[in-house]
Amino acid sequence: MASTNQELARIFSEMAAALELTGANPFRAVSNNRVARELRDLTEDVGALVAEDPETAVARLTALPGIGKGSAQKIVEYVQTGGIDEHRKLMAKVPRGLFEVLEIPGIGPKAAKAMWEQLGIESVADLKARLDDPALAALPRMGKKTVENIRRAILFSEKTAARVPLGKALPLAIALRDELAALPGVRRLEYAGSLRRGCETIGDLDFVAACDDPEGVRRRFTEHPSVTQVLAHGDTKCSVRLESEGVAIQADLRLVPEAVYGAALLYFTGSKEHNVRLRERAIKRGLRLNEYGLFRGSEERPQEQGKKPLAAATEEEIYAALDLPWIPPELREDRGELDRPPPRLIEVGDVKAELHAHTTASDGRMSIAELAACARERGFHTVAVTDHSPSQVIANGLSPERLLDHLAAVRAANDEVRDVTILAGSEVDVLPDGRLDYDDELLRRLDLVVASPHAALRQSPAEATARLLKAIAHPRVHVIGHPTGRIVGRREGLAPDMAALFAAAAEHDVALEVNANWLRLDLRDVHVRGALDHGCKIAIDTDAHRPEHFDLLIYGVLTARRGGLEAASCINAWPAEKLHAWLAAKRDA
Ligand SMILES: [Zn+2]
Ligand SMILES: [Zn+2]
Repeated sequence: MASTNQELARIFSEMAAALELTGANPFRAVSNNRVARELRDLTEDVGALVAEDPETAVARLTALPGIGKGSAQKIVEYVQTGGIDEHRKLMAKVPRGLFEVLEIPGIGPKAAKAMWEQLGIESVADLKARLDDPALAALPRMGKKTVENIRRAILFSEKTAARVPLGKALPLAIALRDELAALPGVRRLEYAGSLRRGCETIGDLDFVAACDDPEGVRRRFTEHPSVTQVLAHGDTKCSVRLESEGVAIQADLRLVPEAVYGAALLYFTGSKEHNVRLRERAIKRGLRLNEYGLFRGSEERPQEQGKKPLAAATEEEIYAALDLPWIPPELREDRGELDRPPPRLIEVGDVKAELHAHTTASDGRMSIAELAACARERGFHTVAVTDHSPSQVIANGLSPERLLDHLAAVRAANDEVRDVTILAGSEVDVLPDGRLDYDDELLRRLDLVVASPHAALRQSPAEATARLLKAIAHPRVHVIGHPTGRIVGRREGLAPDMAALFAAAAEHDVALEVNANWLRLDLRDVHVRGALDHGCKIAIDTDAHRPEHFDLLIYGVLTARRGGLEAASCINAWPAEKLHAWLAAKRDA
């Protein structure tokens, strides 16, 4: 998707928020939000559309359900002039910091407007300073409990704010890596750090390179179009600040001789804790490990004495010299990885089924046939249609009557296709008390039941545990979808007794999902490890709402790898017969 669309979507969202904050007719805010949504979904680039012919562009845009003539003209105005006059005027009326206040979960435009008008709060910092002021709790629709939730949300976002989500950092790093690696004379080049370990958020990007023409690589790196600031430009290290697609992150490039590339890659991949364990192991063997290699003896900086390392060119030979097999980066966290042989971790190519996906019947953008086509393109043998249940009103959840029609449509579509099985399932809400959102009679008709919590995500741990245990014990449930409902860096979600859930899931033969959307990654890595220790099955699903969501799989796989998942314990990696038999056994029980 082109970034002009995304930039315009952001502008229309801002106008909507500014309209609400200034108390304009609420209908105008709603229509601006609708335009923003259409722009986000649009696959054509409006920039190119307008450049080609503004009149045709207006006709094309107004043909979309959410865009009127006035909005279409503003889109043209933006492409032709680089801005929208109304947007500038609105932004001048509202303090910039109020938009950040609106980002805090639980604060809507009405609340933000009241804080601004009645208490002069114009930023998150202002709000933080007033959290203990009774006047804040006394505002309409506020109250003590809401203030406490706001306090928690602010603290939570402060903890994670500086880090970039995996799903934003990885595409950026891959593009940059591939561009640099293609330069003449580059022998080895890889991203390292927490990104190579597949962590859910990334502090900064680290690249390690070995090349014949360091100056060429340095220049391309520091003069890259996404660079906004060069922080350091040295012979062996360059640091820049990158901004691209709404991500701002520091990136470091380290240039090393090819003979010590493995030692540098190992060192800069980390984690710090893993490296400490390796160095201790080296010392016990009378060796010394640093970013220049593994050396005999105990001198501080053996490379400066002209000593030749025992091993340095590859990670494999360094591990081998420490009597270790090569350890996949995702496991390098000092969680016992040196004390047991590494598992054969699951890979994207092992996954052969998508078991959680939405169609236009609820809040997805794909027809059943389009969904099946996406699955076929990826070489999957199975895809499950799992639209929402009635409680998900905003997601257009299916009433029992609509579900029955939908099941018939899925079965008809399945009869039409040859090389992929389309399962008729549902993502059924786990209600706050643990009951499911459809009755048992209806659940019995489904090939697959993914039971997920969506509402009441601030329940106490005890309530959350009871709720999820009840869902796990339900005889028709196959998978618990995004079990905690957390959103990375934004919402903590449920905090149930995970060990109790793992034990129950193993007992009732229910798989626990790693939702691959990088906003969720739920289960998280340590939960995957805990679940496997209890003998649970794991599902990795993209929760696809659009075709491109199938590409999110990598994030779920990386998270699962961090938890030590092998293909055998992942139901999506099973052969079709095994998966279908497992699903049917529950339905027929
Ligand atoms: Zn869901
Ligand atoms: Zn879903």
